[in-house]
Amino acid sequence: MANAVKGVIAGAKGAPVSVETILVPDPGPGEALVRIQACGVCHTDLHYREGAITNDFPFLLGHEASGMVEKVGPNVTNVAPGDFVILAWRAPCGTCRSCLRGRPWYCFASRNAQQKMTRQDGTPLSAAIGIGAFAELALVAAGQAVKVNPAARPEAAGLVGCGIMAGLGAAINTAGVSRGDSVAVIGCGGVGNAAIAGAKLAGAHTIIGVDVDDRKLEWAKQFGATHTINSRHTDPVQAIRDLTGGNGVNVAIEAVGRPETYTQAFYARDHAGTVVLVGVPSPEMKIELPLLEVFGRGGALKSSWYGDCLPTRDFPMFIDLYLQGRLDLERFVSETITLDKVEEAFHKMERGEVLRSVVVF
Ligand SMILES: [Zn+2]
Ligand SMILES: [Zn+2]
Repeated sequence: MANAVKGVIAGAKGAPVSVETILVPDPGPGEALVRIQACGVCHTDLHYREGAITNDFPFLLGHEASGMVEKVGPNVTNVAPGDFVILAWRAPCGTCRSCLRGRPWYCFASRNAQQKMTRQDGTPLSAAIGIGAFAELALVAAGQAVKVNPAARPEAAGLVGCGIMAGLGAAINTAGVSRGDSVAVIGCGGVGNAAIAGAKLAGAHTIIGVDVDDRKLEWAKQFGATHTINSRHTDPVQAIRDLTGGNGVNVAIEAVGRPETYTQAFYARDHAGTVVLVGVPSPEMKIELPLLEVFGRGGALKSSWYGDCLPTRDFPMFIDLYLQGRLDLERFVSETITLDKVEEAFHKMERGEVLRSVVVF
């Protein structure tokens, strides 16, 4: 049986999104049907609407979500109806070449629901990052539903499913920030501020937030930045060196995804330091660096996909830290909105007015 519910659809490239009635099938083998309680508005949703990811319109948007498992299909053992879950866009298969090498966070065959959600006329919808959670119900692979402590507020918990996990994981999993490290984070939106929060959790002693927007730098301080630099007025590389005894930071995290900010991260780190790129570049961008500097500075140049997270390991842990008061997830929720306000939320995001607008159901 299919369930008729409201969902947010991007029907054509660049066109405003609309709320439509969609059909969500009951779960088949290995699938779970989740009643969505909250879903954050992420830049990736906007990128889908702009046709910047694929051209498989129409899209069912939304992917930073939490909710309650409503039904499960045959052969599902990890969750049961009534479980409070965060949806993950990585559900390791256990059998691809990366999983078999013991690196499930790089899984190359991550699972999604087999059945499609559709328009009422049967047109299949492409679910954003294999989720599609700006809807009252979402059908996912059971492995994408990760059980966490139900004491968490749904609107805060859902954010761990994407952007916030990307930032926390860039600092903790990819960079391996630890006690006493110095860290610079370039770009203090949702992902960058999560990287700052992650660096603080991991025990970094100097955390430098860099952005061109003073409002974002204020947020950075609230999440744990010990220093901030407005790079519109100040050369961030020199300022970061000045704050670190002339040396640069141990870890520079680039949360913008642009050649000029990547270059800043490259030169702002100390010898043998680590650069982590977690900002997502667009296809035409190129970078030019002196190869001798790449060699001579040593260290590591890394990319962080989804914070190199293992959802079943990391989501419950971050929710527990949040419930213990050690990770301020609530602060990422700038506002809660209804399903029909997603288009408006995109504009607020583009103007840099919010960290996250979160749809609540
Ligand atoms: Zn795999
Ligand atoms: Zn996202």
